[in-house]
Amino acid sequence: MKNMSLMTRMGIGMMSLMQPLMPSCKDVTQMISDSMDQRLSWYRRTGIKIHLMMCDLCRRYEQHLGIIRHSVHVHSHDDSDLVGPSLKEASRDRIKTALRDAQ
Ligand SMILES: [Zn+2]
Repeated sequence: MKNMSLMTRMGIGMMSLMQPLMPSCKDVTQMISDSMDQRLSWYRRTGIKIHLMMCDLCRRYEQHLGIIRHSVHVHSHDDSDLVGPSLKEASRDRIKTALRDAQ
């Protein structure tokens, strides 16, 4: 510690001050997911922003999560592909009767 310059010591001091603002990748990805459902505190949002400035992988994670969220939102209004064509009432009754008779 004696041989360190003032700037080095200040840098280490700044790093230790910023440590609480520098969440891990695991924490950031969880917070990004949480931010999709709730508003995060200023403290957490700031930590995410600082982390994303330096971490390409987490930045990509955020972008992909946004794309997935957008896709789910867009396709949740169009459920015709998921349900398929609806059966006519007569067909439903015929199937119900056939299933009941088969038991
Ligand atoms: Zn990261």
